[in-house]
Amino acid sequence: MPLRVLILGGTTEASALAHKLAGDARLAPVLSFAGRTASPRPQPIPTRVGGFGGIAGLVDFLRREAIEAVVDATHPYADQMSAHAVAACAQADVPLASLVRPEWTVHADDRWQVVGDAEAAARALGAEPRRVFLGLGRQDLHVFATAPQHHYLARLIERPEQETLPPDLRLLQARGPFDRDAEERLLREQQIDVVVSRNSGGAATYAKIEAARALGLPVVMIARPAKPAGQVMTDVDACVAWLHGLAPRGV
Ligand code: NAP
Repeated sequence: MPLRVLILGGTTEASALAHKLAGDARLAPVLSFAGRTASPRPQPIPTRVGGFGGIAGLVDFLRREAIEAVVDATHPYADQMSAHAVAACAQADVPLASLVRPEWTVHADDRWQVVGDAEAAARALGAEPRRVFLGLGRQDLHVFATAPQHHYLARLIERPEQETLPPDLRLLQARGPFDRDAEERLLREQQIDVVVSRNSGGAATYAKIEAARALGLPVVMIARPAKPAGQVMTDVDACVAWLHGLAPRGV
C-alpha cells in the first residue's frame, strides 16, 4: 500500500511538492487548504478544504484517514496550523516534517526596520501622513485602521471581508508572481514612500523588496513568528526523499 501523506498547504512550496508527488506509486498524498481563497489553483493530487477543528479535529482526521506522514508546508506566518500539526502528530504518533521557505536576508543597501508584528508596523509608520504600500495578506489590513493618517495601497488576490479597514485605502486585485520593473513602476507612480512587508521568503513576492531597494525606500519588515521546532526542510526534493524513506518499498 502506498504511504498516506497529508500535506498542509496554501503555499507555492506545497503546490510544488504536490506536483513532484503526482503519479508517485509509493505515495498517496492529499493536499489540504484552509479555504481562505475561493479559487485556489488546480492541483494534480487529491485536495481537501477547510479547518480540521483544532488539534482534536486534526487527530481525528489523521486516524480516520490512516495518515502515515504529515508535511507542514503552510506559510511561514501560519503559526496556528503549524502548532496544531506538532501537537496532533505527537498525539497520533505520525511523523511530521515542515517544508519552510528560507527567509529573505537584508542587503547592504536595504533600508529595513524590523518589527515584531503588524501592530508594531502600524506604529513604526509614525505620526506624519505617508504613502504606504502594504505588501501583506488581507488578515492584517484592519490593523492599519489604527493609523488612519496615512494613505495605503494594498494588493490582494481577493477583496477582504473585514469591515474595519483604513479609511484611505486603495485596493488592487492581483495574484503574484510580480516582476521587479512593474513593482518599481507601481511604487513610483503611486508615489509610495514606505513599504510594509512580511518576510515571506521565496521569489514570488520578492520583487517589491528589490524595487524598494532600487528606489531607496524604507521597508518596515514584520519578522516571522516563531514556529514550533521539528524536522525542518527548505527543499522540496529533501521532503520527497524523507517521504520515500518512510514509504514501503516495491509498491
Ligand atoms: P493559521 O492562522 O495558522 O491557522 C488558522 C486555522 O486555519 C487553523 O487552526 C486551521 O483551522 C486552519 N488552517 C490553516 N491552514 C490550513 C490548511 N492548510 N488546511 C486546513 N486547515 C488549515 O493560518 P493562516 O495564517 O490563517 O493561513 C491559512 C492558510 O493560508 C494556510 O494554508 C497558509 O499556508 C495559507 N497562507 C497563509 C498566509 C499568511 O500570511 N498567513 C499567506 C499565504 C498563504 P482548524 O484549527 O479548524 O484546523
